[in-house]
Amino acid sequence: MNIVILGPPGVGKGTYAGFLSDKYNIPKIGVGDLFRRAIKDETELGKKIKGYVSSGDLVPDEIVIELVKNRLQEDDCKGGFLLDGYPRTVAQAEAMGKFKKIDVALNFVAPDEVIMSRIGGRRTCSKCGAIYHIKNVPPKVEGVCDRCGGSLIQRSDEKPQVIKNRLVVYREKTKPVVDYIRKKGSLADVDAHYDIEEIDKIISQCEKHLEALS
Ligand SMILES: [Zn+2]
Repeated sequence: MNIVILGPPGVGKGTYAGFLSDKYNIPKIGVGDLFRRAIKDETELGKKIKGYVSSGDLVPDEIVIELVKNRLQEDDCKGGFLLDGYPRTVAQAEAMGKFKKIDVALNFVAPDEVIMSRIGGRRTCSKCGAIYHIKNVPPKVEGVCDRCGGSLIQRSDEKPQVIKNRLVVYREKTKPVVDYIRKKGSLADVDAHYDIEEIDKIISQCEKHLEALS
């Protein structure tokens, strides 16, 4: 099963992909991790990527495509994979059609308010880095870390206005990709508005889509 994972920041893609990776015994591949590994290993692609990343530029399609293509040709991907963070552009989606068939793209959707409250409720300990959530994982004393007594802060990229912007940018950039894959007939929407205690409801929708393939 060749699976692509789509969805906005904060929708929980990493968590769902982890579940599915364990259940179906296929590797979970994050493009961000591929970047970091290539840079660390100082491969030819890694050196190029480092140049773009350190100057704050987007990594060009042809480099991302080559990196992903190489990774998907490794042995552990023979039985399938879960790909997160690709395709981000229509050019990447078109290129993928030439080297691997996408069986299904799971498109996780949730209303902005849900994502805002998930990310916007996060608090991070300024001393030890422990992560809390004002509603789901509250500290015993408001604003104070249970573990070390450090003060809890809201990260600047998790403030409401910043999250809103990230969602707008995501939608603008990804809409053409989602439309492209939908037209090809391999898009499956997954309603991901449920709370973490109800994650089963999200996973079971994925399983239904995946079982429809076999
Ligand atoms: Zn702490």
